[in-house]
Amino acid sequence: MKVARLPKDPGPAAWNRLLPDADPATPLEENITADWLIIGAGFAGLAAAHRLSKQAPGDRIVVLDAVRVGDGPAGRNSGFMIDLPHDLTSADYAGALESDKAQTQDNRLGIAHAREMAQEYGLSDEAFSVSGKINGAATAKGHAHNVSFAKHLTALGEPHEMLDVAQMRDITGSDYYQSGLFTPGCAMIQPAMFMRGIASGLRSNHVSIHEMSPVTSLERQTDWVATTPKGRVIAPRVILAVNGHLNSFGYLPRRLMHVFTYASMTRALSEQERSSLGGHAAWGLTPADPMGTTVRRISGIGGDRIIIRNRFTFDPSMEVSDKRINDVARDHDRAFAARFPNLSDVGMDFRWGGRLCVSRNNVQVISELDEGLYSACCQNGLGTAKGTLAGGLAVDLAMGRSSDSLSRALAADLPSRLPPAPLSSIGANFFLKWQERQAGGEL
Ligand SMILES: Cc1cc2nc3c(=O)[nH]c(=O)nc-3n(C[C@H](O)[C@H](O)[C@H](O)COP(=O)(O)OP(=O)(O)OC[C@H]3O[C@@H](n4cnc5c(N)ncnc54)[C@H](O)[C@@H]3O)c2cc1C
Repeated sequence: MKVARLPKDPGPAAWNRLLPDADPATPLEENITADWLIIGAGFAGLAAAHRLSKQAPGDRIVVLDAVRVGDGPAGRNSGFMIDLPHDLTSADYAGALESDKAQTQDNRLGIAHAREMAQEYGLSDEAFSVSGKINGAATAKGHAHNVSFAKHLTALGEPHEMLDVAQMRDITGSDYYQSGLFTPGCAMIQPAMFMRGIASGLRSNHVSIHEMSPVTSLERQTDWVATTPKGRVIAPRVILAVNGHLNSFGYLPRRLMHVFTYASMTRALSEQERSSLGGHAAWGLTPADPMGTTVRRISGIGGDRIIIRNRFTFDPSMEVSDKRINDVARDHDRAFAARFPNLSDVGMDFRWGGRLCVSRNNVQVISELDEGLYSACCQNGLGTAKGTLAGGLAVDLAMGRSSDSLSRALAADLPSRLPPAPLSSIGANFFLKWQERQAGGEL
């Protein structure tokens, strides 16, 4: 089976650029055999490798990725490992009570696995810490979303705290927010630092990770044979941890939605800018309306910076142009200026985009696709926690283990079918634009 499309990541992987240069990549340049092959070194792939290193010690585990660790979507996100329900297609993130309870339990398993890896490999608090997040509300409608989500959290028995305008100013240094809803269970990561730290820990545990090694074909002979431009891996069991690129391997055509979202990161703030802004040195804010703007302030390697993320576009080709990044930049600059008018001299150092994979019915694809071929894909935009969970569960499935979480994953419906191509593209982009317009000042 020839792989139809290889990943293309638009713009720089900013979080990775803040870090010291990594050691040179070691692309696969020979034919090798392994007990396990994992394709994709994102959250799902590295979590799968870690779980395997525990459950099948001594087995030869090989991971291949088309790009450098931390350069793909896993290193391009906003770094919120969210424990609570966070359905991007709902008005205020909430869904039905029982399914939200199960989802929270699953997300927490993903976060617990991430924490276990972070502790085992000695990652810093900057790379991973459970410090909570705020749902910021900039408008009366956003505040109403927060109030209704807070009621839902009470019904779920989840701790939360409503913050008023003064508390929001105290944390963010901005007058933009009317209120906030703080929830303590979200882990915040420096995504590239986290991914590189986990990859280096795995390597020290004898997992072979070959970056810059795109799999161009995958076929089943007696075992599975994955071909890259300069080598081959032959393995009886393969875990596909490629998120939406599952389609490129020929699986689930017309059932996965390929969505891009976008971010910009400021240059490092000067001492004077930091004191004129005030606020806490590090915080993370998701918008009360899922279509709004996510904002983070970070301080650590690379200095004190602000990151803005907004806009979603539906791109079935799994590629976006440089022009798109430039167009979205205007939305980022407008959102930044509205929130931080006293930082008008602060420009953006990096602008980028990245792929999400979403199913219409909000399900993941954790299953055995063919004999010895497993999927840990379709994270519905929340892959930091859900991808980590998926990687671990795919291994449990392959090793014949059982758990409530795995039973839930296996019982899930297939992703719903999409309407025919031109219709789904026009319809989805129109719907996203309309929802973004509805988000008003939350955007
Ligand atoms: C700007 C932005 C902000 C985001 N913010 C958040 C957030 O705050 N919280 C959150 O939970 N999620 C967020 N996300 C989404 C999150 O990044 C993804 O859901 C997550 O990366 C998916 O993890 P994964 O391991 O399943 O897939 P990926 O991270 O996409 O990893 C899959 C890997 O497979 C590789 N691959 C694909 N095809 C091949 C091939 N043929 N050969 C070899 N390798 C291949 C790719 O190069 C890639 O590295 C955000 C995304 C973006 C772009």
